[in-house]
Amino acid sequence: MIHLGLHFVVPLVVALVFFRTSWRNATFILIATMIVDVDHLLANPIYDPNRCSIGFHPLHTLPAILVYVALFVGPLYVRMKNKDRSWHPKARLVHLIGLGLLIHMALDGLDCMV
Ligand SMILES: [Zn+2]
Repeated sequence: MIHLGLHFVVPLVVALVFFRTSWRNATFILIATMIVDVDHLLANPIYDPNRCSIGFHPLHTLPAILVYVALFVGPLYVRMKNKDRSWHPKARLVHLIGLGLLIHMALDGLDCMV
């Protein structure tokens, strides 16, 4: 239950700290990335509180996580190349999706340590 709560609280805090002017929109996008848990539907049982998701579910494996890193970093690179350092709205969206997925993987990874 604490784990599920962190999937809402951490994105909210990250949005408030790093996306202050649009924290509501950022929080929504970050939390929406929880859809990545759709891969749990392929597992039997679908939910097992003692299972480590990282490396088990397809969208929680290293190749997928590398894609999430690219989603996070790529738009940052594009932004750096902009003279005024402004976000292109679509680049910002992709960046937030990558960030949300990485936060998700980190929180799921915490479960694997205990
Ligand atoms: Zn997950």
